[in-house]
Amino acid sequence: MTNETVPPTGGCPTWPGLCIDTEPGHLDHYNSEHEITDKRGERLFDVTFTQFTDEHGASPAKISIAGMGSEDYDPHEVRQVTAKIRQLLDVADAMADQVLAAEARA
Ligand SMILES: [Zn+2]
Repeated sequence: MTNETVPPTGGCPTWPGLCIDTEPGHLDHYNSEHEITDKRGERLFDVTFTQFTDEHGASPAKISIAGMGSEDYDPHEVRQVTAKIRQLLDVADAMADQVLAAEARA
């Protein structure tokens, strides 16, 4: 298995497959589309990638793992929710692997 990722057409050339900003030449990279919401649609748990650039240059890439609340589940609902949480943590692992691979190539 390789860590090389072919950027999708119009995707971010710096963080292909990770950053979701498609604006050509953008300097602030992010991906905030991985989240689990509660039954009201409020954010319960999320994984976010960021790597910003300011007057001091490019900041280190960061992966945020954030939980914002809690919810009570009926026993028959639990496995569906915990499966989503596991998938979200797999996303965090994949983001970290991609950043570490890029840093190793630099
Ligand atoms: Zn980007």
